[in-house]
Amino acid sequence: MEALLGKGGVLSDPDELMVYESDGLTLFRALADFVVFPRSAGDVAALVKLANREGIPFVARGAGTGLSGGCLPTEGGLVISLMRMNRVLEVDYDNQIAVVEPGLVNLHLSWAVGPQGFYYAPDPSSQQACTIGGNIANNSGGPHTLKYGVTTNHVLGLEVVLPDGELVWLGGKTRDAQGYDLVERPLIRSDEPWTIQKDMNIVVHPTYPHAGYLNWLCDNYIIGGNGPGDRIHYFPEEIVEIDV
Ligand SMILES: Cc1cc2nc3c(=O)[nH]c(=O)nc-3n(C[C@H](O)[C@H](O)[C@H](O)COP(=O)(O)OP(=O)(O)OC[C@H]3O[C@@H](n4cnc5c(N)ncnc54)[C@H](O)[C@@H]3O)c2cc1C
Repeated sequence: MEALLGKGGVLSDPDELMVYESDGLTLFRALADFVVFPRSAGDVAALVKLANREGIPFVARGAGTGLSGGCLPTEGGLVISLMRMNRVLEVDYDNQIAVVEPGLVNLHLSWAVGPQGFYYAPDPSSQQACTIGGNIANNSGGPHTLKYGVTTNHVLGLEVVLPDGELVWLGGKTRDAQGYDLVERPLIRSDEPWTIQKDMNIVVHPTYPHAGYLNWLCDNYIIGGNGPGDRIHYFPEEIVEIDV
């Protein structure tokens, strides 16, 4: 693995591995044998092939903010951290599509397209840290998703590494493409390590000049819950009224 990723691309010292032993749900812990940091799809595919050949279990990890222990190496083996694959590869403003790598931090996409008047709508409150790859596995969302939908409504295509190390593109850059939808149903919210996403096509929205006003209205009309049993109430007619 060091031959593939360089010395800095592989952690095996128990002290360093401890950093990756849990996610946001710190009640559960599991120590990996190695944490590896690929920089390209080719690296990920090669690691998965190697893990397959040697019978080593592996799991993908974004920022580790998940609250379900999804990125824990419960059987040891490899944690494949996508944090070094964090680039915005391409933005097509006319069609509102960005191509990004999975380790890109959610908020950094909005920062990247913000100067052109766009933003990425799904906004989990962990958005300063969580990655688009983790968002996809968990179908994450936040306040903006009440209006624009969750992660699944924003992902058009994914390049994925299959469990045998094969790289395939599912979906593409068009909305409502013909044929089977292999992106939305089987992959998004899978929270399973059976594929690792590599590049993804993401929809970005234009920001409106009166965004501050919208936020003010939302703050006043969304009554947040005080506990797990409470529901979020909002008034659809008010939301429609401000949708200009
Ligand atoms: C303070 C706090 C606030 C939060 N607020 C919200 C919220 O408002 N809304 C919400 O929905 N969630 C929220 N979460 C939960 C969490 O942030 C989200 O689930 C987020 O999407 C996880 O992203 P991550 O990059 O940290 O993924 P991780 O925790 O690293 O991984 C989560 C899952 O994704 C898989 N995964 C990660 N990257 C890939 C990849 N490239 N390919 C395949 N699988 C991958 C992992 O194997 C794991 O199963 C919050 C968490 C915290 C700690």
